[in-house]
Amino acid sequence: MAYTASDSRYTGMQYRRCGKSGIQLSALSLGLWQNFGDVDDEAVYRKTLHTAFDCGITHFDLANNYGPSPGSAEINFGKILKEDFAAYRDELIISTKAGYYMWPGPYGEWGSKKNLVASLNQSLKRMQLDYVDIFYHHRPDPNTPLEETMTALDLIVRQGKALYVGISNYKSAEAAKAFSILKELGTPCLIHQPKYSMFERWVEKDGLLNLLEGNGVGCIPFSPFAQGLLKNKYLNGNTEGARANKGISLKEEQITEEVVKKIKALNAIATERNQSLAQMALAWLLKDDRVTSVLIGTSSSAQLLDSVACLKNLEFTSDELKRIEDILN
Ligand code: NDP
Repeated sequence: MAYTASDSRYTGMQYRRCGKSGIQLSALSLGLWQNFGDVDDEAVYRKTLHTAFDCGITHFDLANNYGPSPGSAEINFGKILKEDFAAYRDELIISTKAGYYMWPGPYGEWGSKKNLVASLNQSLKRMQLDYVDIFYHHRPDPNTPLEETMTALDLIVRQGKALYVGISNYKSAEAAKAFSILKELGTPCLIHQPKYSMFERWVEKDGLLNLLEGNGVGCIPFSPFAQGLLKNKYLNGNTEGARANKGISLKEEQITEEVVKKIKALNAIATERNQSLAQMALAWLLKDDRVTSVLIGTSSSAQLLDSVACLKNLEFTSDELKRIEDILN
């Protein structure tokens, strides 16, 4: 049956301004890195996309290489976009990225103008789109001058193939240079996508969050559950059916005794807050105004609904924050 979006889709979600831009993003955004590839079940991920939009999630994050196989998440998303979301294109912020390995030879990865322009052309074809809303450089390239990479992002915007640009996985010093080049070119950086969770806090130590705030650039942390570690499933070291068992990224040996101890202690605080551990992990990121949106992965629409319910409690008492710090440090 044809999909019609829920009339109440904008009532339960929170929207936050992305840095000093005109764009607001839903407090939660959906990433299609895993669970949307051609190894996955189309009925499941189609339903997940419907549920996300019905909950007011307006931002969907892709990259050239998402799958597996690489490129298949864009193909699958493009198909569903055409079949189910055509009437809603102007309500969506769709992003993609280039920078990681995508095709053989010297132009299939990193940060040359050749790679970025060709990769985005391929992504647009796969998704059957004329433009994306945000195009990211996925990772810094130590061998290409930053000026070339940033000029490529500017060019792509001028060509109308992306409305805004972002960078991902850049440390503060490189990010500061990138922001200044982009500003000079007249295409200010909209957003930065760093890895950030209770278990991965380099953005605080490196000063990235302050840099983003100072430059009016938004922040969209990825892997907020530390790829699923921050959830009740691992409380007893049980990994059945979970990502740790699929061998794609999270490794079973990452679930050490020390990690399980921390997860248990954090879960006790989450329970007092009437939240699941996953919900508290999201709320903990969203308590900071410098965070525009949190980019979540999900393996089902039920799991997504559980994540969205974090919005019911984003406040932390100073005592809760202190106890969380004591566990994490
Ligand atoms: P997450 O930390 O969001 O982990 C997602 C996994 O957590 C799910 O697959 C599921 O695991 C579990 N999970 C999700 N919701 C819940 C819940 N409510 N309760 C319990 N468990 C839950 O991060 P990802 O690593 O998937 O990253 C999210 C997105 O960030 C990606 O899709 C991508 O768009 C982006 N990203 C960007 C990167 C970059 O370099 N810029 C790198 C990595 C990701 P299970 O499958 O075991 O059920």
